[in-house]
Amino acid sequence: MFGVLAPGAPVAQLTFDGLYSLQHRGQESAGMAVSDGETITVVKDMGLVTNVFDERTVAALEGDLAIGHTRYSTTGSSTWRNAQPAYRSVGTAGFALGHNGNLTNTAALAERAGMLPGVVASDSDLVAELLSLAFSPDGADGGGELEATLTKVLPDIEGAFSFVLMDAEHLVGVRDPNGFRPLCLGRLDDGWVLASETPALDVVGARFVRELEPGEMVLIDRTGVRSVHPFPAERVDPKLCIFELVYFARPDSLLYGKEVHGARRRMGELLAEQAPVDADLVMGVPESGVPAAEGYARRSGIPYGQGLVKNRYIGRTFIAPTPEARARGVRRKLNPLRENIVGKRLIVVDDSVIRGTTTRAMVEMLRDAGAAEIHLRVSSPPYAWPCFYGIDTPSREDLLAAQLSVEEIGAYLGTDSIAYLTLDNLERAIDAPGAGFCSACLTGDYPVEISPAPAKEVLEVAIRA
Ligand code: SF4
Repeated sequence: MFGVLAPGAPVAQLTFDGLYSLQHRGQESAGMAVSDGETITVVKDMGLVTNVFDERTVAALEGDLAIGHTRYSTTGSSTWRNAQPAYRSVGTAGFALGHNGNLTNTAALAERAGMLPGVVASDSDLVAELLSLAFSPDGADGGGELEATLTKVLPDIEGAFSFVLMDAEHLVGVRDPNGFRPLCLGRLDDGWVLASETPALDVVGARFVRELEPGEMVLIDRTGVRSVHPFPAERVDPKLCIFELVYFARPDSLLYGKEVHGARRRMGELLAEQAPVDADLVMGVPESGVPAAEGYARRSGIPYGQGLVKNRYIGRTFIAPTPEARARGVRRKLNPLRENIVGKRLIVVDDSVIRGTTTRAMVEMLRDAGAAEIHLRVSSPPYAWPCFYGIDTPSREDLLAAQLSVEEIGAYLGTDSIAYLTLDNLERAIDAPGAGFCSACLTGDYPVEISPAPAKEVLEVAIRA
């Protein structure tokens, strides 16, 4: 997600650039809303940022205030309707919203609001609808009304949510009380930028100011930034998704004030201490396995080399929406570099094994290319519990580590040996004393209760019924 208010400057191009740098966070659809001070124009469609926008569409979006979004679907299927920003007009006013995360009380919220089936189809759209129901276009001014509406609605919302919102003149950022998903603030000349990750600030030439605190809302207008805390203090309990550091975030992102790449490299170093093995070459699975592989090589003294070439124009397979798409994606995405593989004992470092589809295909590919031995080292603990906070693994049946022991996983994947980093070592590698993390997918210890487990299509099932 991205948001910018840059008084007097055209911001559609900046929003495009910001979204492009955040493409890894969602590849199913993209969109932006731009305000010229009076009218909000929304353009969104299925596909990557570059599929949705070209020079012509960007040039046509006039205004100095915008938000943008790239979607990775959790609650709500991957359809045009669920692409974001979600927009609502209320009387003469209007607002747009982008959401990163996943609500855990979606069905209860829809029921409590007496929402008829079909009114909304995703948890993000539900929030937009709840805001529009509470929004009074006759309020003192649009910004005050948006703030008052958010203050009223936000405390009812549970789960993982970072939001960027805008009306015609104001930009708002919100981070849930656990801070599951990141959101940061930057300064751009006399304007302000909000972004899911800090590289989006770099790309548009903004200066990093700070990460939003869990439970914080920032309200931005032409006079500056105000910070408020709309949630009860007892709900504030920092639980940043630990997988942002393992896999999801860019390596050049700052989280809890530290660069992610360093944490990933240390994960590899500790993995080398914890699970050494004789081998000829250490290689990382592109791209998020590479820093940990560098760390493993450095600590073990075994040379580092590239064993797989990644087609840089292919997206992440893990966040593709169907198993078929993920499996097809592996061969499109990775190809072996035979010179580094034939006859070699390989240590292959990957950041995680979720369903095992991509890892199994990759191991087979390395064997076919002539690898003598394959020792898989995983720079996080077994992922055995579904995530309900913004990663699309809603069923334990989909998770290899929920079904098999570590040895069985190694046999299933076809490796000669396998080892996972322990949770203690993962936390040591992150090295952020006092920082709170969610690690529910590794431990089963969920910081926000899920009851009953929400289905991806919870709102759409109601529509079809
Ligand atoms: S359950 Fe796992 S993937 Fe989901 S937010 Fe927690 S740490 Fe992240």
